[in-house]
Amino acid sequence: MDIVFDCPNCSQELAVDSAGAGSEIDCPSCGETITIPSGSTKPPTENVPSGPSLAPSTIASSAAAKVEMHLKVPVRDKPGDSLITKPRPPLEVIVKGSGKRIRTRTIRHASCIENGHDKFDEKVMECLNDIGESNLISIHTVGYQHFDVGTQKVMTDYGLVVIYRG
Ligand SMILES: [Zn+2]
Repeated sequence: MDIVFDCPNCSQELAVDSAGAGSEIDCPSCGETITIPSGSTKPPTENVPSGPSLAPSTIASSAAAKVEMHLKVPVRDKPGDSLITKPRPPLEVIVKGSGKRIRTRTIRHASCIENGHDKFDEKVMECLNDIGESNLISIHTVGYQHFDVGTQKVMTDYGLVVIYRG
């Protein structure tokens, strides 16, 4: 078993056989005459401290590498997602209206004669106000023939067809 010690003059690490304990030698490094101690001043594990000094740097470098990876991945993914996104389809629901159907109402001039008074305009206004301007689609004039009881003749008359939502 060797005695391991440092030269007190130049701190050179020296190893001498334990048989030489207590004797004087010349340091092979600096030439100073030194006394060999009776036992090792440096336990074998004392060389380890050089290890931990390396460990933090490797951990730090690997951690830095991980951070770099985390930053790179999202940057690649996000443009891909936005390219896949499709434009929204047009909203058909609004075009169809809120559950309303297209209807027609026919106003014949002959049916608007009450007690000899022509109520056609009043009937038309009443009809249009009932439907409401927002529901009104179009108004068409129509001509028709009917048998007039009073004159016993076939008469030609007119009317309106109102197309609306309701
Ligand atoms: Zn020395």
